[in-house]
Amino acid sequence: MDEIPVALREAKKTIKSSYITTNKVNIVIVGSTVAFLALAFFFFNRNSPQKSVNVNQTQPVETVENNTPTVTQNQTSPPLNQEEKIPDNILGHLPYEEAPQNELKAITNDGGIKLRQKAADKFLQMQTDAKTQGVILMPISGFRSIKDQEYLFFQVKEQRKQPTSKRAEVSAPPGYSEHHTGYAIDIGDGNVPATNLSTNFEQTSAYNWLKNNAAKYSFELSFTPDNLQGVNYEPWHWRFVGDTHSLETFYKARQLTTKLK
Ligand SMILES: [Zn+2]
Repeated sequence: MDEIPVALREAKKTIKSSYITTNKVNIVIVGSTVAFLALAFFFFNRNSPQKSVNVNQTQPVETVENNTPTVTQNQTSPPLNQEEKIPDNILGHLPYEEAPQNELKAITNDGGIKLRQKAADKFLQMQTDAKTQGVILMPISGFRSIKDQEYLFFQVKEQRKQPTSKRAEVSAPPGYSEHHTGYAIDIGDGNVPATNLSTNFEQTSAYNWLKNNAAKYSFELSFTPDNLQGVNYEPWHWRFVGDTHSLETFYKARQLTTKLK
């Protein structure tokens, strides 16, 4: 369509110079106008059959499958997906509050490992029941303060020369560990301590027993092989979800539908 203004400019120049060229310019102008009208007519006709199909169409859209773009226009748009809520997280780890000291109870004789009262009672009961079947559930780590986790994350990261993202695959940043809640516990097999904190733990009788019985005591595996937080699989790390507070701690407003990383 740019040809027309160009032609007009050319025409103005040539009108000044001679009458003959003016005639030529007139031909160009008329020719361009005719070409423009022809093009406009062509485009109008090309679109109009589809439009008439749309207007007259009372049948379901399947009957005009050939007119793909038109079909798309006619279909009722599906309801928009609700905006996905991505919970606050650091490299897949979710934030947790530190349990108050007075709500913790020791689960080992030396008092070194603690859980929240209810989780502690359930763990001890589970440990006793497992023992009757020859299975030794050995607590490795329970409640951890944010300060404990600072050491575990930053100091160990430096000692092992790990990049942050690598460290986060195996350890939560401070403030983001389930161990702060007093509901999470790392469990080893007392008969095979070499498998402690290793994925080989899943081959022990302790893991097998937990897999079949932990739910009876309201414990569940936090980081399954396909967990949506994208945290490494940890067959030794279990959490208590047997009362309202623990359930809210782990599930309220943080149901994941897509992987965090
Ligand atoms: Zn753990």
